[in-house]
This record gives sequence, structure tokens and C-alpha cells, in this order.
Amino acid sequence: MEPGFRKFTAAIDQGTTSTRFFIFDERGEPVAKHQEEFEQIYPHSGWIEHDPFILIKSVENCIEAATAKFISAGYNTRDICGLGITNQRETAVVWDIRNGKVLYNAIVWADSRTAHIVRQLKLQDAEEKIFLKTGLPLSTYPSAVKVKWILEHSRAARDVYESGHLAFGTVDTWLLFNLAEGHSGEKLHVTDVTNASRTMFLDINTLEYDPFLTGFFGLEKLLLPKVTSSSNSKAYGFLAKGPLMGLKITGCLGDQSAALVGQKAFEQGMAKNTYGTGCFMLYNTGNQPVISKNGLLTTIAFQFEDSPPVYALEGSIAVAGSAVKFLRDNLGIIQEANEIGELAMLVPDSGGVVFVTAFAGLFAPYWVDDAQGTIFGITNYTKREHICRATIEATCFQTKAIMHAMEKDSGIAIKNLAVDGGMSNSNECMQLQADIIGIDVDRPAMRETTALGAAIAAGFGASVWTSFDELGQVNSRNHRKFNAQTTQIQRTKLFRQWERAVVMSRGWLT
Ligand code: ADP
Repeated sequence: MEPGFRKFTAAIDQGTTSTRFFIFDERGEPVAKHQEEFEQIYPHSGWIEHDPFILIKSVENCIEAATAKFISAGYNTRDICGLGITNQRETAVVWDIRNGKVLYNAIVWADSRTAHIVRQLKLQDAEEKIFLKTGLPLSTYPSAVKVKWILEHSRAARDVYESGHLAFGTVDTWLLFNLAEGHSGEKLHVTDVTNASRTMFLDINTLEYDPFLTGFFGLEKLLLPKVTSSSNSKAYGFLAKGPLMGLKITGCLGDQSAALVGQKAFEQGMAKNTYGTGCFMLYNTGNQPVISKNGLLTTIAFQFEDSPPVYALEGSIAVAGSAVKFLRDNLGIIQEANEIGELAMLVPDSGGVVFVTAFAGLFAPYWVDDAQGTIFGITNYTKREHICRATIEATCFQTKAIMHAMEKDSGIAIKNLAVDGGMSNSNECMQLQADIIGIDVDRPAMRETTALGAAIAAGFGASVWTSFDELGQVNSRNHRKFNAQTTQIQRTKLFRQWERAVVMSRGWLT
């Protein structure tokens, strides 16, 4: 088709370590993109912050650079039909609703400073009730405990809160407040159901904020964003500045939900695993929330326009690609992330080394706040190749534990694992994953599925597509399958060793 006769959709992907902007064609191929890393702020051990204004700036830069590439390729910005936003979830921003003044840095989802608050909250015996309402266990992970911490430590935030003007948002809400405006030029304070389901303020059964939850955290006066569907032609307004000013925003969803949509896992029983900074497996359970008995979260997968929401079981691993980064930046045993796979494959196994990468406790399915990163099995024989292999295996073993939990909760065996995210770029990592779980790992050629999922949501909101059946061609080319090269006996033996190491990594912080 000639440029000018095509329909494009755009996506902002505001991730944990970088921001990206994409313009996709109707087949889900990116025709223009730009990516920018931004600063991670680590004020103390276990603390991770982002400067909220740097997040905005990085989005503006990416839009500008990708749009310039789009135009110089001969395309017309008039043909971009809708914009979707996807973002790191749970990360909490608070600001004064009257003037947009930020009152604390954004506290990032993986930050574990709230461990002591969580321990106190657990004493109140409300965990079961909260879990049934929100699908989330009390942990350092959801936004609510992060906001509570800010109010206990920032006088400025507390004053604005007491005056009734403290706005809360996950990153989607913060970006929309700053970069968009409504149909009458008004400021927006809005979010989508998937992001709202990660705050611990939302009852995922009713899709409404629950006064019991805001009361439990002592945050009754907090201004919460209006909750709407993930694909929506009216709620998200228009871009208010930059080269795409006036572009309608028609999609919004948290990054893991977006990846599920980008993998086209629309049917009940489909699953995907995204290996980014952390690693997140989502399993579509259809229109009913399934409450896990095996350490998984229940979350809203997506909601398109006025359709009922689709739910997912989720297994979240706090540390995945960030452990690769740790080997590069803290230990210096690799120079580039892609070396880890090559080194890991120079040895036939990890030489008995097991690395429990519990840098901020362990998430699913273990949920241990007081575990710390521990390397077991070091001897004179251990080389950096073994450490590299054990680092990759840590994510793969946690994925296996999560898969077992999903199979127990759903009663259905997973036969195929659709993968994406930075670490999935490594053939070696994906081969090790297949070897550890014993089922096929299926990787698409175009692995920017998070951004693609936001673009698909936006495309539905802008009527580029009207049914899932029309997405047959989207991101379907050149999938690569990794088959397990191990026996059941080998897999069981290695996994037992891992589970023993998990038990031994507990209790370091007490
Ligand atoms: P996020 O969206 O969470 O910012 P990405 O999906 O961009 O994350 O993935 C980035 C992570 O993937 C980094 O932590 C990096 O260490 C890891 N990564 C990138 N490429 C590779 C590779 N070839 N092998 C292993 N890890 C990789």
C-alpha cells in the first residue's frame, strides 16, 4: 500500500528502565520508533525512585524523535489514528492537583522500603479480606503502601493531603495529567482498570475503589483517578503538545496487560511470560477472576470499551533482567547484557551454583519479604560462566514454580509459553528456559509486544480494528520455538535444588 493510504497506531511504552515510542502499521510492524534510557535513583539499599519529570521528558523526546523518523520515511502524521499508553505498573506518583507540583519522587514498583509497614499491616488480620477484594497479597509491591510511606515521611505531601488536594497516580495517570487534555481543554485525572487493579485501592470484582481499602491504608482523602476501560474512544483526551499535538489517545493499560494483548492471548487459557527488569507471567482466565490458592495474584488483564473485563492469574518475579544488569554494573563480570547467554553456554551446567536473586525479597509464588540475594554452592571450581548460568536459571526456575501454581489453580496444563521482553532476545536464555520447564517456548520475531498491545488497545478505541479476528496477520511472522533438551529426571533434580536454596535464602533481614 502507498504511504498516505495506511492506518497507523502509536504507542508510548514507559518502562522501568527506558521509555519507547512506536508507530505501528496495521500488521503490527513498527515503521518508526525511538527509545531512551533514564536515570534510576537508588538512595538506599532496596530503594528505587524515578524523577517524575524525567519520565515526562523521556516520553516527549521519544515522541519527537520517532515522529521525525516517521515523517522522513514519507508517511503523514494525519494517518496515525490513535495513541495507546502502556507503563510500568504500581509505581506511585503524588502531586498537588492544583498546580501539578510533585511532592516526592516516584517510588518504583520493585522498591522494598515499605517492608516494615507491610509487617505492621499484616498484624491487623485483614489480609484475607483484602486478597479477595484486590487479588493481591499484602506486600511491598502495590502502590497503596508506597503512598502511605510518602505521607509518613514527607511533610510537604502530608500538608497537601490534609488540605484534600493530594493527587495519586500510577505512571499512566501522571503522563495523561501532563501530556494530554480533555475535549474541553480540561486537565485529566484518569487511569484504566488494569493499572487501577495494581494499586490495592480497587475492588477487582466491582471495578470500583473500595472505601474499606483506602481506610485500611489511612488514605481516605487521597484523590484517586477516574477508572475507565483500557480501550476507550472518549476518556483519555488528546495529546496537548509536541509534534503529534491533537492525536487522540484511545488506549491505556499496564505493561504486563499490554504484553498479553500484544501476544494476542485473548482467549481463556492463553499465557505469556515477559522477561524485562522483572519477569511477569499472565494467564488469561476469561471474564471471571480466579482467586489463587498457590501464591499467584489475580489481576485485570484488559477491558475493551464497554465489554466485560477479562481477568488473569499473574506470577510476578521481581528480579530478572535486573540480575543481568547486576552482573554487568555491580560485579563487572560481563560488559554487555547479551554476553550472559554466551558465557552460560560455555559450561554444561551451573556447576552446582544456585543464585537466588532475591534482591528485594521474593515475589510469586513464594512471597518472602525477608529473603535476600544469596549464591549457594561456590567452590574453587566456580567460574564466572557458572554464575552467569545460575543467574539466568534463577528466572527460569521461578517461572517453573509459577507455572506449577497456575496449573494447580486452573487445573489445566500449560503446553506452550509465549515469551517477550529484553531477556527473551537471548536464544541461550530461552533455550535454558525450555530445558527447565520441559515445554516449548514460543518467541515472536517482533518482541515489542508491550508497545504493540497498547497500540492494539488504541486501534480498537480508534476503530482501526473492531474484532479480535481481524488481528490474524498482526505479529504472526517468524516465530521461533525452543524445545526442551532435558529429561524429566534432570529437570526434577535441578528444581529440587532450587527450592532448597529458596528455603535457605529466607530470614536474612530478621
Ligand atoms: P523494561 O521494559 O522492564 O525496562 P526490557 O524489556 O527493556 O525491560 O528488558 C531490559 C532487561 O533485559 C535489562 O535488565 C537487560 O539486562 C535484559 N536484557 C536485554 N538484552 C538481554 C540479553 N541479550 N540477554 C539477557 N538479558 C538481556
